[in-house]
Amino acid sequence: MKIALIAHDKKKDEMIKFAVKYKEVLADHELIATGTTGTLIMGETNLKIKRMKSGPLGGDQQIGAMLADGLIDLVIFFRDPLTAQPHEPDVSALLRLCDVQSIPLATNVNSATIMMEALKNKVYFN
Ligand code: PGA
Repeated sequence: MKIALIAHDKKKDEMIKFAVKYKEVLADHELIATGTTGTLIMGETNLKIKRMKSGPLGGDQQIGAMLADGLIDLVIFFRDPLTAQPHEPDVSALLRLCDVQSIPLATNVNSATIMMEALKNKVYFN
């Protein structure tokens, strides 16, 4: 599976802990991330991650374009719902494209945990 990982700034620590916890599961998949999120995860794990531009500089749109092309199978996007984001239109577009394509999308750690447990147990999404 191709999995996209994205975290807003106040959620990056949570994303790093999550990636460390599930690095064996994630290592079985092709990983794509926005720039800063990818750099931070690679700094704490040995995971190989293809990095796009930073989210506010177009990374969310790059991942959105991949979604539109059917190139991403699952999205984990730890959003910060309490802070205004300068690139909110890009974020909304990415989330919308997940629903257009029926791509599984987790926007918080508990949803993402359920996904990782499903992948660990080889329960695949259609
Ligand atoms: P970042 O982008 O990983 O480059 O910080 C995430 C975002 O804010 O969309």
